[in-house]
Amino acid sequence: MKESKKTLDVEVPSEVLRVAKTLESNGFEAYLVGGCVRDLLIGRKPNDWDITTNAIPEKITAIFPNTFYENEYGTVGVVNEGVEDETLKVIEVTPYRLEGGYSDKRRPDSVEWSSKLEDDLRRRDFTINAIALKLPSTIVDLFEGEEDLKNRTVRSVGEPEARFNEDALRMLRAIRIAVELDFTLDPKTQNAIAFNAKHLKEMAPERIRDEFIRIVMSPRPHIGLILSHKLGLLGHIVPELEEGIGVAQNKAHSYDVFEHILRTVEHAAKKEFTLETRLAALFHDIGKPATRRWSEEKKDWTFYGHDVVGAKMAAKIMARLAFPKKTAENIVALVRWHMFFSDTEQITHSAVRRMVARVGTENIWHLMDVRTCDRIGTGRPKESPYRLRKYHAMIDEVMRDPLSVGMLKISGGRIMELCGIEPGPKIGHILHALLEEVLDEPGKNTKEYLEKRVLELNQLSEKELVAIGTKAKQAKEKQEEKTLKEIRKKHWVS
Ligand code: ATP
Ligand code: MG
Repeated sequence: MKESKKTLDVEVPSEVLRVAKTLESNGFEAYLVGGCVRDLLIGRKPNDWDITTNAIPEKITAIFPNTFYENEYGTVGVVNEGVEDETLKVIEVTPYRLEGGYSDKRRPDSVEWSSKLEDDLRRRDFTINAIALKLPSTIVDLFEGEEDLKNRTVRSVGEPEARFNEDALRMLRAIRIAVELDFTLDPKTQNAIAFNAKHLKEMAPERIRDEFIRIVMSPRPHIGLILSHKLGLLGHIVPELEEGIGVAQNKAHSYDVFEHILRTVEHAAKKEFTLETRLAALFHDIGKPATRRWSEEKKDWTFYGHDVVGAKMAAKIMARLAFPKKTAENIVALVRWHMFFSDTEQITHSAVRRMVARVGTENIWHLMDVRTCDRIGTGRPKESPYRLRKYHAMIDEVMRDPLSVGMLKISGGRIMELCGIEPGPKIGHILHALLEEVLDEPGKNTKEYLEKRVLELNQLSEKELVAIGTKAKQAKEKQEEKTLKEIRKKHWVS
C-alpha cells in the first residue's frame, strides 16, 4: 500500500481525534475518509466527519457509550454530547466495505464488510474522495487523489464506465462535486457520463433531488446546469428547462430563454439567496416556450400567461422530484406572481397588500429577490431601479396593515359570541368577507366597525356569504389582471 507522510496545516477537531483514538486503543484501525479528507487537503471546512474502520458495527457500538445505527451500510453514528458545532454532533463510523454486484444501478445487491482499507477505498466514487488519513498525519492515497486535487479534477476510481453503471447517481455527484469545488471533470469520466446518462432515470427521485439541490445551492449552479445539459443528464431531471434552448425572446431580451434562466440563477447564487429563491429563479420563465406567440401588431414575440403556465409546470416538476409540499407551494407562488406589477405611478397600496396576502409575508421578499435576479439575468445593469425600491418601500408600509384573517381586529370566537352561532364553516366565510373589505380599506380594521359588520353579515345565508366573498375576490382579481395586462403591454412588451 502506498503511503505518504504529510503534515496537515488544518487541525482536526478533538472530538474526531478522540473517536479515532478510541477505536485504535481498542485494537482497531481507524481512518478519516471521503469528503472530510478531501476538504482538509484543500483547506475547506468539512461538512461532516467520516471514519472508516476494520471494526464491524457490533464492535463499534460496544466501544462507544452513545451510538445509533444510521443506515443499511453499517454506519454507526457516534454521538458527542454538548458540542456546539453541528458537524461534530455525530461522527459517522463505517466498517470497511466490499461491495457486492449491482443489478439495478442503484444499490449493491449485498453489503459485505472487509478487513482491508484498500477494499473500502476502491469502492468509493472519485479519487479525491478516496483518500484516507490516519491521524495525526499519514495519508493513504491509492488512486492518485492528491494529484487530482492539485489539478482540480474529478475522476472516477477505476473504470468510469463500470462505476457509473453500478450506481448512476455518481454521474450527478460528479457534477455536484465539480461545481461545489470549482473543479473540472476528467475527460474519460465525462465521456462515461455522456454514455450512461440515460440510466439516471432509474434513480430514486429523492436521491436525484438531493444532488440537484446541492448543484443549485453551489456557487455556480449555471455551470452545473450547462454541464448536466451537455452530458445528457438534465433531460432526466428537468427536461422542461431544455425546451428554452434556442427560444428567442422579445426585443427587451438579448438571450434565449435557457440562457436567461441560467443568468438569473447565476445571480441568485452570487447573492447567496435561499434555495427557494434560487429554484424560483430557475423556474420563473419555464412557461415561456409553451406560451410564445408572434404578434403581428408588435412585430415581436409575446409570452402572455407564461407565469400561470410556468407555475403549473413548476408544481409538476417539484412533485416529480419529491420536494416537500411546503417548499413546492412557495416556489409555485413565486413563479406565479413573478410578473407582479411595479409601476410606481399607478400601483396602489391595496394592490401591494393583495400581493403580500397572496404570496405570504416571508415570500414577498423572496419575490423581490427573484425579480432582482430576473433583471440581472436579462442583462440590465442595475439590480434595483427606482421603481423596485419604491415597491420595496410600499411593502414595508403595507406590512403594518392586516394581510390575513389572523390580523383582523376580531376573532372567530368573538364572532360566535356576537352572533350566537356554533363553530362551523360560516365563521370562516364571515372572516373572509371581512378581510376582503379590510384589504381594500385598512382603516376598517377596527373593533367597532367589524363587530357592527359581523351582525349584518350574519343575517345572510351561508350561500350568500360565500358568494359575496368569492365575488368580491374575483371581481378584484379580474380588475387587477386587466390593469396588469394593460400596463404590461405598455411597459414591458410581455
Ligand atoms: P460532502 O460531505 O461535502 O457531502 P462527501 O464527499 O463527503 O461530500 P458524502 O455524500 O458525505 O459526500 O459521502 C461520503 C463519501 O462516501 C464520499 O466522499 C465517497 O467517498 C463515498 N460515497 C458517497 N456516495 C457514493 C457513491 N454513490 N458511490 C461511491 N462512493 C460514494
Ligand atoms: Mg461527507
